[in-house]
Amino acid sequence: MDVSMKRRTLLKVIVLGDSGVGKTSLMNQYVYKKFIRQYKATIGADFVTKELHIDDKLVTLQIWDTAGQERFQSLGAAFYRGADCCVLVYDVNVLRSFETLQNWHEEFLKQVDPADTEAFPFILIGNKIDIDGGNSRAVSKKRAQEWCAAKGNIPYFETSAKEDYNVDEAFLCVAKTGLTHEHEQDIYFKGISETVSEAEQRGGCAC
Ligand code: GDP
Ligand code: MG
Repeated sequence: MDVSMKRRTLLKVIVLGDSGVGKTSLMNQYVYKKFIRQYKATIGADFVTKELHIDDKLVTLQIWDTAGQERFQSLGAAFYRGADCCVLVYDVNVLRSFETLQNWHEEFLKQVDPADTEAFPFILIGNKIDIDGGNSRAVSKKRAQEWCAAKGNIPYFETSAKEDYNVDEAFLCVAKTGLTHEHEQDIYFKGISETVSEAEQRGGCAC
């Protein structure tokens, strides 16, 4: 392949977590660089897209948001179908939103049923760290990191969608992790097909 030719990759990213933790705010901060204090539950399309360059590749993140249905944990098959990465979000000030991560994690794996459950890319975000200068935290960083370690070393980010803190970093990791996973799928398909495309060396997630 011509080295100057950019490869285009589309990654479907879904964002899960309890209502009110800041999923829509994180997406809007990342894609539109805006923080809006109140969102209507029904706002927006099914997904927003963001393009970014990683090494020689042009990556399009297609980020799926819920329109409030997460309250009933009834997101439907189309929401989950073909996901390349799952971003779990909780509010560091609300213990309950951390405890329900377990349900969201299980629900995702049940719906998507990936070939290799252990290897499927998740990212955890603890949002709203700006509130009360961190004094109203209900979940420590250590506790969140332990949860991530127990789930197969999920990368963990603490963010503020309001202050635009660590949001780009978290989604860059989403893109890199999604790419790594896609690469593994390529290898799998090469194994079952005779049409072998060029092998490419991709780095792991450096976050
Ligand atoms: P969603 O239901 O998970 O999509 O949550 P929203 O994005 O609608 O956010 C719920 C509420 O939390 C809104 O009033 C947001 O303005 C607020 N919010 C979201 N992220 C942050 C944050 O990082 N810091 C603060 N202080 N408020 C936030
Ligand atoms: Mg929302």
